[in-house]
Amino acid sequence: MRCALTPYHPHPIVTWQLTGACELHCRNCALGAREHRDPNELTTYEAYQAIDQIADLAPRELVITGGDPLERTDLGQIIDYARRRGLDPGLVVSPTSRLTFDVVTRLQHNGLTRMMFALDGSTPEIHQDVRGVMGTFVETLRGMRWAEGAGLALEVNTLVCGRNAADLTAIADLIRPFRIRRWNVHFPVPVGRSKRAVEMITADETERLFGVLDEIRARERFAVRAVEALHYRRYSLQRNLDARLRDVARPQWSDFVSHDPESAQELLGAAVDGASGYVFVSPLGDVRASEFLPLSAGNLCYRPIGAIYRSSDLFVAMRDPQNLNGKCGRCEFRHICGGSRARAWAMTGDLFATDPLCADQPAAATLPDRQMEAGT
Ligand code: SF4
Repeated sequence: MRCALTPYHPHPIVTWQLTGACELHCRNCALGAREHRDPNELTTYEAYQAIDQIADLAPRELVITGGDPLERTDLGQIIDYARRRGLDPGLVVSPTSRLTFDVVTRLQHNGLTRMMFALDGSTPEIHQDVRGVMGTFVETLRGMRWAEGAGLALEVNTLVCGRNAADLTAIADLIRPFRIRRWNVHFPVPVGRSKRAVEMITADETERLFGVLDEIRARERFAVRAVEALHYRRYSLQRNLDARLRDVARPQWSDFVSHDPESAQELLGAAVDGASGYVFVSPLGDVRASEFLPLSAGNLCYRPIGAIYRSSDLFVAMRDPQNLNGKCGRCEFRHICGGSRARAWAMTGDLFATDPLCADQPAAATLPDRQMEAGT
């Protein structure tokens, strides 16, 4: 395995799973939330230290998630401290008995500006069929109204699977009247409880869904972001590439940036980065390249998160496209995509294997090896 230094985003997105506890037991929970908090979860003091480290990293975005973060009685203090350190965390909440209008208002007073809700269907039947918990559809919409009433911006998370793949357009219609800032559409990685419960979609179905997302992006005011679907960038490029770029054998971001900086940035933001621009922190402080990849690159109690992100063996190896195997290793888009390493790991056991949800047939696969190396 190569461990050459490859460029990375200096300000990654950080997702921090504050706790693994949640009173719900959704069957599609990839993070495997459970009833009680782990006694080894970061203490309040350690959480403050984690915030200091995250602030030093100057992330372009911080998301606090669970489990249900409301299980932590120090959540308000943590948000307050994050704000004092110049961070503006988004908070993912679960529609549990802990979520009340008073709680939402108090968090807003603590400095929270953005709340995120999981919505996996446009009707109670579809949403609850995906999550396997009754009553959560109505509770989720009520929570969204409370958050909106408290002046918070909203984001919606949707996990795509076989049960709701035909429902994406209807979900977009449902959330349109809310003050939605962004819709995060997660593509499935079979880990945690979702390993048994989520109906996987195929690579061809994924390609079709990318087309649906394109249509929704074109007409909605809210942003749409694909999660664990870096090949959405490849899909969008293939659809939009003009004649000039069609002649480029091995595209680099510079090709697009010089051509149209705005659309290149928009395209970058349309899919969440892998190890070159994303960091996940577990409730115990383990630092990983994805919440869906159970491999720790270190623990922030012992090594700063910035050092782990910049130079740990795991992050460095994962962001080096030369390490990719199979179709991803031969792909002309591997420098801007690279596929979901979490999904490759979950479905094949090989961290660097082909992303099983990519339908592309790389043109570079037809080139002799020496031509590939020379980049000609
Ligand atoms: S083959 Fe791999 S690198 Fe190429 S577009 Fe598909 S997922 Fe991305």
